[in-house]
Amino acid sequence: MNDVRLPVIADAQFARLFGTAPMVVSSAHGRVNLIGEHTDYNGGFVLPTLIPQATVAAVAPSSGRRVRVWSRELSADASLRAFHLGDEEAGQGWLDYVQGVTVALRAAGFEVGGFDLAVASDVPLGSGLSSSAALEVSVLRALRRLFDLDFDDVMLAKIGRAVETDFVGAPIGIMDQMVSSLASVGEALFIDTRTLATAPVALPAGTELVVINSGVAHHHAHGDYRTRRAECERAASMLGVVELRDVGVADLGRAQALPSPLDRRVRHVVTENQRVLDAVAAMRANDADALGALFSASHASQRDDYECSVAAIDQLVAIAQADPAILGARLTGGGFGGSIVALVRTGESPAAAARVAEGYTRASGHAPTVLVP
Ligand code: ADP
Ligand code: MG
Repeated sequence: MNDVRLPVIADAQFARLFGTAPMVVSSAHGRVNLIGEHTDYNGGFVLPTLIPQATVAAVAPSSGRRVRVWSRELSADASLRAFHLGDEEAGQGWLDYVQGVTVALRAAGFEVGGFDLAVASDVPLGSGLSSSAALEVSVLRALRRLFDLDFDDVMLAKIGRAVETDFVGAPIGIMDQMVSSLASVGEALFIDTRTLATAPVALPAGTELVVINSGVAHHHAHGDYRTRRAECERAASMLGVVELRDVGVADLGRAQALPSPLDRRVRHVVTENQRVLDAVAAMRANDADALGALFSASHASQRDDYECSVAAIDQLVAIAQADPAILGARLTGGGFGGSIVALVRTGESPAAAARVAEGYTRASGHAPTVLVP
């Protein structure tokens, strides 16, 4: 995390696109969740941290109500996408994330004028490292300064989340936008997703992270995610609680009387919430082994109780867990494919990541990508 280098949008490049220099340049990082999976939409606890990769948003005001947008990652050459404020219409691919920003700002009571926007990102898109939140937060930061809007970083996260829940149509929790908006690079952020209380926590001394994408993307990820959310809501209502957050480890006996698979879904959420609290305690006590063991216990719970892993991910996690430099590993993100995060002894992450990626390639035939370091 020492050599954080942001992507650059040169003034000359912005001028070539829009005929003017950018007035504000803002950035926001992607994230990886250390522990606390599928707890955020249950009002529970999460513990994400920023990754070195970030998205940069450069903006300049334009006359009228036109918004023009260019993405280094997704726009060919100098081709611009455009829309008019008030005429936003979903269903236009990545432009929805920018249209969603102006719609969500308006819904929250903040007016912006027309603007030109260029974005560049080295957060891998669609790999579970939340390029979407990095895009929303970087653009919202830029517009907040450009139009002198008066909202704090928590409100910014809420507006960013609304982009996805209310415009893009992705029923996500608020973790991604909270950590991207509130955390500093080099620290993890404990978030109580019900109260939105946060606390920074450092990794135990002598540890660092590895993140590897499995090369397996699940085609029905949104559908399965919705199914899990619905199962949690049904379980909560059968248990007579507002959210599964309100079920503690001590109440698990009662939850085990629920029909299958709700009993297992609840067991995951309840024990995962406890593991987040235990992870924060382990980090504060500088107990790397305890934290590693919690990572691995979280994976088993996702695999067996929440059933949000897939065979390739289980294989990748097992190979990581068997590596001598790795203290624990787990599926991270929404699941059904995607990436794993591992806790590694300091200085060993490049070699450990290479060993794990190679072993997994050999065993599975899939093409992994090392995302961190
Ligand atoms: P993740 O957030 O895990 O990367 P999502 O599916 O939530 O995956 O968000 C990825 C989508 O967000 C992309 O397909 C694209 O529509 C949009 N997006 C993210 N970053 C950018 C970017 N730099 N430029 C254009 N669109 C982006
Ligand atoms: Mg996303």
